Amino acid sequence: MTTSLSAVIRDPAAPYSIEVVELGAPGPGEALVRVVATGFCHTDLIGRSGLLGEQFLPAILGHEGAGIVEQTGPGVTSVEVGDHVVLSFDSCGACPSCVSGHPTDCAAFEARNLMGLTPDGRRTARDADGNPVTNRWFGQSSFGQYALATERNMVKVSKDVPLQKLGPLGCGVQTGAGAVLNEMRLSAGQSIAVFGVGAVGLSAIMAAKLSGAVDIVAVDLNAERRALALELGATRVVDGAAEDLVAQVVADTGGLDFSFDTTGVGAVMANTLRVLRRPGRSVLVGSGMDAFSVHPSELTGKHVTFCHEGAAVPQIFIPRLIDLWRNGLFPFDTMITEYDLADISKAEADAVAGTAVKPVIIMP
Ligand SMILES: [Zn+2]
Ligand SMILES: [Zn+2]
Repeated sequence: MTTSLSAVIRDPAAPYSIEVVELGAPGPGEALVRVVATGFCHTDLIGRSGLLGEQFLPAILGHEGAGIVEQTGPGVTSVEVGDHVVLSFDSCGACPSCVSGHPTDCAAFEARNLMGLTPDGRRTARDADGNPVTNRWFGQSSFGQYALATERNMVKVSKDVPLQKLGPLGCGVQTGAGAVLNEMRLSAGQSIAVFGVGAVGLSAIMAAKLSGAVDIVAVDLNAERRALALELGATRVVDGAAEDLVAQVVADTGGLDFSFDTTGVGAVMANTLRVLRRPGRSVLVGSGMDAFSVHPSELTGKHVTFCHEGAAVPQIFIPRLIDLWRNGLFPFDTMITEYDLADISKAEADAVAGTAVKPVIIMP
């Protein structure tokens, strides 16, 4: 048994509760990780929302962990005690998508990441009263001093890179950068419009810049975010509230090669199709409660896909992003604001208010 000071959500309306929990031993294919820091991602708001059903709470959230392997379970060969790891999404490793190198399309993606349980349906954390606590959110539940992760979602990283920066690579940064580099495969001289420039959208902008995009349009309601987008690589910005938004994004280009939605807002997702040239490709990653509808003729020459986690193989993609960062080409750490674990509810509030782009929780 390992004792961990962790942030627990017990009620959708209540703040995080900092509690001592007991984690079970790592099972086959798992490892116990001492968490150094964990990014706050907007998907954590879904985890606390109550939308995942009554049985989900109480739960430990957090799915952008970075830490050090403390203990390995039976059969683990790809990491060893003392390794530095970034924790990413989980996948089964056995379905046709996983076997063909597309773990973000894993048949068990939702089960492994959103249910918060072990693959055989268990919770292995107990609170002070001995009651079970959900502790496999994205195969990690890393808002705490310790987390149980799997061989499939641990990414071994170099020990000379500060772990407190790396957590966001596991989800939000990977999602934005991977959409551009893996899903779109944007190449030099092309153009992109990014709708919603929080951490995911800004990561897409940085990736578009390093790919040599010549026209990078950032669309957001928040003027400070638009200014930050210009600093990180956008070549133009458009106010998301503009009445002639589509015309402003298209300007004199005749349409852009790519568009990217991080908002999950129906009207915005429809506009990602309207700003494209033919052929053009829209990648959606934002998911709320909205659907969107367009007339079929608006799809002429347009391709649209919803993409999990930047279509990345994390063990390949995250070390690549770290190398780009080392070379000054991918300054993702400029988005980070650090908070102590005790201040996690403030980190959440600042993320919701938009005053912090990427909160990172530092563990005691
Ligand atoms: Zn799979
Ligand atoms: Zn996330």
